[in-house]
Amino acid sequence: MTAGMTAGMGDGATEGIRALSWRGVIEEYREFLPVTASTPVISLLEGGTPLLEAPRLSARVGARVLLKIEGANPTGSFKDRGMTMAISKAVEDGAKAVVCASTGNTSASAAAFSARAGLTCAVLIPEGHIALGKLAQALIHGAKVLQLRGNFDQALDIVRALGEQAPVTVVNSVNPYRIEGQKSGAFEVVDQLGDAPDVHCIPVGNAGNITAYWKGYLEFKEAGRSTRLPRMLGFQAAGAAPIVAGHVIEHPETVATAIRIGNPASWYGATSAASESGGGIAAVTDDEILEAYRFLATEESVFCEPASAASVAGLLKTGLPDGLGPGSTVVCVLTGHGLKDPDIAISQISVPTVVDADLGAVLHELQL
Ligand SMILES: *Cc1c(COP(=O)(O)O)cnc(C)c1O
Repeated sequence: MTAGMTAGMGDGATEGIRALSWRGVIEEYREFLPVTASTPVISLLEGGTPLLEAPRLSARVGARVLLKIEGANPTGSFKDRGMTMAISKAVEDGAKAVVCASTGNTSASAAAFSARAGLTCAVLIPEGHIALGKLAQALIHGAKVLQLRGNFDQALDIVRALGEQAPVTVVNSVNPYRIEGQKSGAFEVVDQLGDAPDVHCIPVGNAGNITAYWKGYLEFKEAGRSTRLPRMLGFQAAGAAPIVAGHVIEHPETVATAIRIGNPASWYGATSAASESGGGIAAVTDDEILEAYRFLATEESVFCEPASAASVAGLLKTGLPDGLGPGSTVVCVLTGHGLKDPDIAISQISVPTVVDADLGAVLHELQL
C-alpha cells in the first residue's frame, strides 16, 4: 500500500485527489440518513447526477421538462444510490457476503460496491432476460452469478429465503437502507431546482424507487428545504403492470427488462406515493416506451435504457395532470444508461450499409 493511502475504506474522498465538489450520497446528505460517525462509508461517489433541460420534450408537453440522468452514476443506474447505503450498513453490521435477485442493474451495482468493500456478492438473475451490459458488469466485478430458470419474482422469493437460512445480507430494495439511499435522488432534484417540481415521472418495477423519491420529497419539505410536494406519476410496462391491474401478474412480459416485474415488493409504497401526492400509476405499451426511447436519443441526445423511457412515454401519453399549465415544471427520471442494453438499440434502427473503401462509393451512399 502506498504511503499516505489510508487502510480502511472509511473515507469516501481519497487523500491526494482533489474532489471537485461532490462527495457521494452519504457524505452529501448524512443528516438525513441512518448513519453514524462510525459507519464505514463505502462510496463510488455516486449521485450528483445532471438535471438536464429537455427543450423538445418541453415543447411537446407544453411545460418545462427536465431529465434526471441516472445513467451518469458509477455503474450506470440509480441503484448505486441505495447500494452505497446497503453495503456500508452491511459492513458496519459485520456481514461477509451479500445476495440479491436482479433484473440486472441491482446485480451490477451490488457487485461493484461489494468488490470495493471486500464482500462476497451472489446474484440471481432470470435466465435470458437480462441485458448484456448488466451481466458483463456483475461478472467483471467478481460476483457469483446464477441464472435462474424462472423470472425476477421467483428469484426474489429464493433470495429472501436465503437471507433467513444463510449468513448473508439481502441487498434488494426489501433492505430498508436501499430506499434510504435512493431518496437522495429527490434531495438532489430539490437542490438543483431550488424547490420541488410540480410533477415527478418515474418508471415503476419493484416500486422501491417511487417509494424512495416520495420519502425524499416529504423529508425535504418537512425539513424546510422545499416549499411544496410534486404529484408522483409512476409508469409500468403494459405487459408487467400489476399495480394498474390490481393483481399479481404471473408471467410479466416487456421489452423494458428492468421493470419486468409481476409482484412488486414495494407495492404499497407506490400506491401511497401516488394517492398521497395526488398523482397516479398508469401503464405504457412497449411501442410507446420504444417511441420515447428513440425520441430521447434523437431529440434530446440522451441514451437511456428502455425501462427509463417509460417515465417519458407516460408523460407523453397522459399529459400534464389537470390544473397544470405551461408554467409548471416536470422532472422525469431516466433510471439507467442506454449502453447497458445495446441489443435493443440496434434492433430499433437499420444496420449500417457496407460500402467499398472508395470515396465515390461513400459520397454516393451519404447523399450529403
Ligand atoms: C431497477 C430499475 C427500475 C425500476 O425501479 P424500481 O425501484 O424497481 O421500481 C427502472 N429502471 C431501471 C433502469 C432500473 O434499473
